[in-house]
Amino acid sequence: MKKWFLCPYCKKKLIKYDKDAISKGVFLLCKKCGKEIEIRIDK
Ligand SMILES: [Zn+2]
Repeated sequence: MKKWFLCPYCKKKLIKYDKDAISKGVFLLCKKCGKEIEIRIDK
C-alpha cells in the first residue's frame, strides 16, 4: 500500500512512498509553496 508524503506547510501531495520506505536527507522543492522539504520517512 502506497502513501502520500504531504508538504508540512501547505499539505500538497509531494511524493508517493511504499510502506517499507525509509528516507532521510532527501530534499524536494514544494511546487505550491516553494519551500524546501526534507523527505523524512522512518518507522
Ligand atoms: Zn508546500
